[in-house]
Amino acid sequence: MTETLYDVLIVGGGPAGLTAGLYTSRAKLKTLLVERMILGGQVMTTTKVENYPGFPGGIDGPDLMIRFQEHCQEFGLEVVTGEVESLVDEGEIKVVTVDGKQVRTRAVIITTGAEPKKLGIPNETEFTGRGVSYCATCDGAFFRDVPVAIIGGGDTAAEEALFLCRFASKVYLIHRRDELRATRVLQDRIFANEKIEPVWDSSVEQIIGDNSGVTHLELTNLKDGSSQTLETAGMFVAIGVTPKAHFLADILELDPEGYIMTDPDCRTSMPGVFAAGDVRKKILKQIATAVGDGAVAAIVTEKYLDEFE
Ligand code: NAP
Repeated sequence: MTETLYDVLIVGGGPAGLTAGLYTSRAKLKTLLVERMILGGQVMTTTKVENYPGFPGGIDGPDLMIRFQEHCQEFGLEVVTGEVESLVDEGEIKVVTVDGKQVRTRAVIITTGAEPKKLGIPNETEFTGRGVSYCATCDGAFFRDVPVAIIGGGDTAAEEALFLCRFASKVYLIHRRDELRATRVLQDRIFANEKIEPVWDSSVEQIIGDNSGVTHLELTNLKDGSSQTLETAGMFVAIGVTPKAHFLADILELDPEGYIMTDPDCRTSMPGVFAAGDVRKKILKQIATAVGDGAVAAIVTEKYLDEFE
């Protein structure tokens, strides 16, 4: 790995990274994709994807991402598992450290995506894995015939609340305001579902539990200051995501929330380094927009490399 000079190194193997890899390897650019865990990104924890074109009736997230991987394999995309620790700009060459080893590349595409935000309340870390979860798709089945709570009012919270209804006896949807941010189609399903009880204008102040896990949540009503105790065995947090770009904070321009700043063509503040997908500052974060970004970043990278030839 140390000897080779790559044309493109892609950091992250979600929809944006795999799309970029598909395009660059099809264009016969020598490409290495580095993924920290498993290929597929956040979509791997999505039950059904209903808004990605070409799949009427929807497709399971992992099934969709396996198709992405197989498609990349057709064009010989090289994939390694590893953690990118640093990126050094040596002008025409970038040196990327992956698990302590240096990899030389002419261009880099960052597609590291985002990870779930934490609430930041007492006991949250202590009860993570014992009632507190950030992924209903992963952990929902552990909560059969018991009440659970989901925190948040966006698309993720709405989708996860609906998914949790398959297992839980009741799903409290706890939101800090009195209206959801989720799209209308999801809201309609939420309000039509008898198992889901919205708890408006409320925040979780305290998680209460014992050795077996979470037993109760203490809530505060943000409008009138009153308190409420909810009996629940699980608390799923779906309050948005935070970008995974901290390792680049010293070398790339990030916005105050930590998203990588780019121009509309995915160019970052460093020539030869591009960013695509959820890690990039942009208005809409969906699989379709991540795929669009990946394609743009790959084509713009190809043009950038052509300029040196
Ligand atoms: P989001 O849209 O940012 O929503 C986060 C929700 O959590 C908001 O309702 C927010 O409340 C609430 N919240 C934020 N911080 C909080 C805190 N500290 N305490 C309590 N509540 C808090 O995040 P998301 O639902 O994960 O979605 C992220 C992106 O992915 C969005 O662009 C979404 O459309 C997209 N997505 C799309 C699909 C789909 O198309 N099927 C599925 C999932 C996600 P406020 O409303 O008061 O701000």
